[in-house]
Amino acid sequence: MKSQEPRSSSSCAACKFLKRRCTPNCQFAPYFRSDEPKKFAKVHKVFGASNVSKILNEVPEEHREDAVNSLVFEAEVRLQDPVYGCIGAIASLQHKMVELQHDLFLARSRLACFLDHPTLPLDHFAPFHYP
Ligand code: ZN
Repeated sequence: MKSQEPRSSSSCAACKFLKRRCTPNCQFAPYFRSDEPKKFAKVHKVFGASNVSKILNEVPEEHREDAVNSLVFEAEVRLQDPVYGCIGAIASLQHKMVELQHDLFLARSRLACFLDHPTLPLDHFAPFHYP
């Protein structure tokens, strides 16, 4: 064991999971620390180590950590929702956004009516209607 290679004494989570020797130039080591074994396990289960390796090779080094974080996020969501994965979360948020836009439209309309007729009692103006 060489003293200038501190990582060689402890395999990264990916190499531990894959039961292989972690080398000083292991491409997974910077992103899958040995104390985060589940992080790689989830990504491997959904994408496979080979595909993760290909993605890391295609992404500039300065963006690799972000790429890994998004892969981990996508893998976790896919494992929780095998049918829709991230699309389920996106669709749910889009639905909520449409509801909020509708509520905002109603609130602005109600405010405009109130400002046009400030002497009318508040109960004159239509309440919100939720679907
Ligand atoms: Zn490694």
